[in-house]
Amino acid sequence: MGTVNSDLRVVGAGIGGLSLALAHIRPPRGLGRDERRLVIQEKTPVLSEVGAGLQLGPNAVRHLFSWGLASALRSVAFEPQRLIIHSFLNGQILAQLPLAEQGRILNQYGAPYLTLRRADLQQILLQAVNETGAVELQLNQAWQPESGVGSGPCVIGGDGLWSAVRASVWPEAQAPKATGHVAWRALVSQKALPAAWRSDSVRVWLGPRCHVVAYPVAAGEQLNLVAIANQKDLQAIASTTANWDQEADLNGVRTLLLPQAPAALRALLEAVPAWRQWPLFDRPLVRSAADMARGRVALLGDAAHPMRPYFAQGAAMAIEDASELAAALSECPTELALSRYAERRWQRCARVQFASVRNGRIFHANGPFGWVQKARDASLRLFGPQLLDPAWLYGGGPPLS
Ligand SMILES: Cc1cc2nc3c(=O)[nH]c(=O)nc-3n(C[C@H](O)[C@H](O)[C@H](O)COP(=O)(O)OP(=O)(O)OC[C@H]3O[C@@H](n4cnc5c(N)ncnc54)[C@H](O)[C@@H]3O)c2cc1C
Repeated sequence: MGTVNSDLRVVGAGIGGLSLALAHIRPPRGLGRDERRLVIQEKTPVLSEVGAGLQLGPNAVRHLFSWGLASALRSVAFEPQRLIIHSFLNGQILAQLPLAEQGRILNQYGAPYLTLRRADLQQILLQAVNETGAVELQLNQAWQPESGVGSGPCVIGGDGLWSAVRASVWPEAQAPKATGHVAWRALVSQKALPAAWRSDSVRVWLGPRCHVVAYPVAAGEQLNLVAIANQKDLQAIASTTANWDQEADLNGVRTLLLPQAPAALRALLEAVPAWRQWPLFDRPLVRSAADMARGRVALLGDAAHPMRPYFAQGAAMAIEDASELAAALSECPTELALSRYAERRWQRCARVQFASVRNGRIFHANGPFGWVQKARDASLRLFGPQLLDPAWLYGGGPPLS
């Protein structure tokens, strides 16, 4: 389509930026529809990514379904039967939560728990955005920190953890810091795996100083694996962002994970032909609405509140942000909408950030004589279903239909 007039410029066509475009152009029932237009500028020339899966809780799926994406999502995503927590040291099951099984999550929260490839979600959002005919996507257009906002359209920074919008409007904010944790991610064909390692559930192995997650994606055809470990010597990685998403040489997986892994998990990890490595970075927790909106600029998703991956909620929070911002934009003039959005979102985002950090400590529990892991494992055995089902989180968002 040709150039559009818009009072909104979104920077970044990631999960949050595309979700905002869709929610803004296609408001949910009850909110008015008008001649909305917007521009998205994206730094990469092509939107594509390999190797990363996402778990999406019902709090995020409910929004995606309300934007008319249910059938597209169901064709590429997987609805896992259960969440199963194992001990990393001996493989024993510590706790389980039914997800699709008995319709548990759908019945309780009005939307399913889904697992899918990030690239599939991005493509579905992109196609829906293109179909609106009201969004101009400018690829290969990086926002430069010196760009400024001036009197042009209001700017939404959806440009991820290393946000250039944030750097230009919040110059006092520090750059993201290495967390000392590194993630390895891989996708393997389920057909290529021996039957015992194929899965219809989300499985998590909790160790001392590490954990591993495996779940089906691509309508169940592939298994997404994520292994995260504490790694002390991240200084070389911390000095540059260029190492983001690099091919891993397997040494990290071999030296940090395999020696302690139970036999079945070790065999699964060894069967993976190629890993990609993500050193994990984050920022301090959001402290007020002013951290998310300032004048004619607002941030959403990782640009506003990067999440450690221990709650699997980073993309979900970007989707919730998009929905709330679109709702505010439907209610009042743009600049006022940005501050209203930030007021409504910052506390929930900070709470999820905090819970993600805390989960990381629990997942990697490590103490003298193993007593911290033992206490964690005992709590999971006793209270697993309650601990694994955060109603305050999954019940948030639009009303259940
Ligand atoms: C190991 C790991 C596992 C994870 N698992 C989950 C999970 O299970 N569930 C979940 O919900 N989340 C998960 N996440 C988090 C999730 O991937 C992110 O939170 C989510 O992708 C953030 O979305 P976003 O739109 O804010 O940013 P992104 O998706 O990163 O998109 C940002 C976009 O902005 C563009 N951009 C960057 N700079 C510029 C610029 N200067 N100008 C223009 N464009 C720019 C980028 O190219 C990109 O397209 C995980 C993360 C990690 C590391």
